[in-house]
Amino acid sequence: MAVVRHRSEHCISRTNIDPDALTVLYRLKQAGFDAYLVGGAVRDLLLGLHPKDFDVGTSAHPRDIRNLFRNCFLVGRRFRLAHVRFGDKVIETSTFRCEPDAGSIQMAEGGRHRDNTFGTPAEDALRRDFTINGLFYDIRSFDVIDYVGGLTDLEKRLVRCIGDPDVRFPEDPVRMMRAVRFASRFKFQIEPATYIAIERHAGEIRKAATARLLEEVYRLFAARSSEGTFRHLLQSGLMSVLMPELADFLEDSPERQDACWRLLGALDSRPPEVDLVSPEVLLGVLYHGVYTQRLRECGSEPSIHDCTETAAGVLEPFFERYQAPKRLFYSLLHLLPAIHHLVNETDPEHAGRWMNQEWARAAVVLMDCVARADHERPTAPLSKWLMALESRRGAHDHLPVHGAHPRRHEPEQRRSGPRPRA
Ligand code: ATP
Ligand code: MG
Repeated sequence: MAVVRHRSEHCISRTNIDPDALTVLYRLKQAGFDAYLVGGAVRDLLLGLHPKDFDVGTSAHPRDIRNLFRNCFLVGRRFRLAHVRFGDKVIETSTFRCEPDAGSIQMAEGGRHRDNTFGTPAEDALRRDFTINGLFYDIRSFDVIDYVGGLTDLEKRLVRCIGDPDVRFPEDPVRMMRAVRFASRFKFQIEPATYIAIERHAGEIRKAATARLLEEVYRLFAARSSEGTFRHLLQSGLMSVLMPELADFLEDSPERQDACWRLLGALDSRPPEVDLVSPEVLLGVLYHGVYTQRLRECGSEPSIHDCTETAAGVLEPFFERYQAPKRLFYSLLHLLPAIHHLVNETDPEHAGRWMNQEWARAAVVLMDCVARADHERPTAPLSKWLMALESRRGAHDHLPVHGAHPRRHEPEQRRSGPRPRA
């Protein structure tokens, strides 16, 4: 039985809903369909946060949605989703669906089940991952509808699997990474049975498709809560499967853990002008400690060759496992040694030619994190570095530069796989 919380009993107001999402919801409603705001947006609004994106669930079938919106594109091969576009913004609109019954289950590539059967709102809620992500906001009545116990769990601040975690995690192991990410982001506890199941099934994360896993690895840094997320990953055993070399390095060494958490904490508390960060920075932060330790083993004055070799040795397992782009690997081979040598530089004007490199912005952001994590280090404020970088780039716009020309509009966060479906 669904719990219904009426308009006067919850804090969601239409003024906090994206106007384009409201347009989609209203048009579906006017055409006679059920139309709900679903998933993360309802959770965030109930927590008083600003949602990152607004997803819509509806009884309308994909072709109905396409008939209603000229700006609509159907995507997805197995399950057709509608992307209703407003400029750069996409309102993901999906028909209510159910999980296929056990007899018809076929494992899709990467261990995700095929799920292409339309369903009822209740079935749609039950196929979602966590109770806090299974809430609906009905645009007809302005009620919040809860088929899964999400309202109570939001109040108790719990991340709890919908259904049996011993079934739901093996079914889609990436959900385990999502659980620790949500727990850290909202400072929630993971409900005990859900947590025990993560420990039990951590090894099955290997079954997920590589591209999807790499995307989820980058998402672990989202919402400026990476420190908590990686603490959970180490504790639950997920890190031993996702990044065994890092887990081995951190395990049994409180000092190394402390340094790693401080660096991730520095990344999380970066200045607001650096909102999105590139994969170079994320992986640089993650592997900085292992790299520094290995470099120490090369003696007191390592050569450039030692630095590059060490960086390659540290990063290779990750790149092999996730088949991450080679270009990223080569940037990091320069970036990690550069940080090591430049973190004591206090004047961007003396920074040298590396400031012209493609990876210079990543180096500056990483350097700032390293300096802030280690309180003793004096370095110029990040804003000064970013300004120096911009003025060099400005100067280079007027010069015929050969070789490594900095790209002015580099996308900060590259996506390597499909967006998880709402
Ligand atoms: P974020 O704010 O990080 O985007 P979100 O909850 O919106 O959080 P999305 O990845 O955008 O997360 O997914 C949207 C919704 O789709 C989720 O709230 C959840 O209901 C459902 N969902 C996403 N991934 C899965 C999954 N692997 N298994 C089941 N349901 C999922
Ligand atoms: Mg989302």
